[in-house]
Amino acid sequence: MAYLKQAQKGTEHIFKGRTYKCIGTEPYTTRDGRQINLALFEGACAVCGGSFTVKTTVDGYERTNAFYTKHCPTHRKARK
Ligand SMILES: [Zn+2]
Repeated sequence: MAYLKQAQKGTEHIFKGRTYKCIGTEPYTTRDGRQINLALFEGACAVCGGSFTVKTTVDGYERTNAFYTKHCPTHRKARK
């Protein structure tokens, strides 16, 4: 099994020049009943600078698509 980086509180991830910071984790039950932890990452909106959070898996957080999100909920809606 490949080694996967694990997110923990304080972990910083830089994606496309934007910094996301892990502010904690929360338990989550997957559709097939497995208990896993999700990491909450906080980023700053590319439009207003307001903070928003995205959720990733703790294991292999770097490989998730969550970091493509770069807007707060308000500006995310406006762009669709
Ligand atoms: Zn915004």
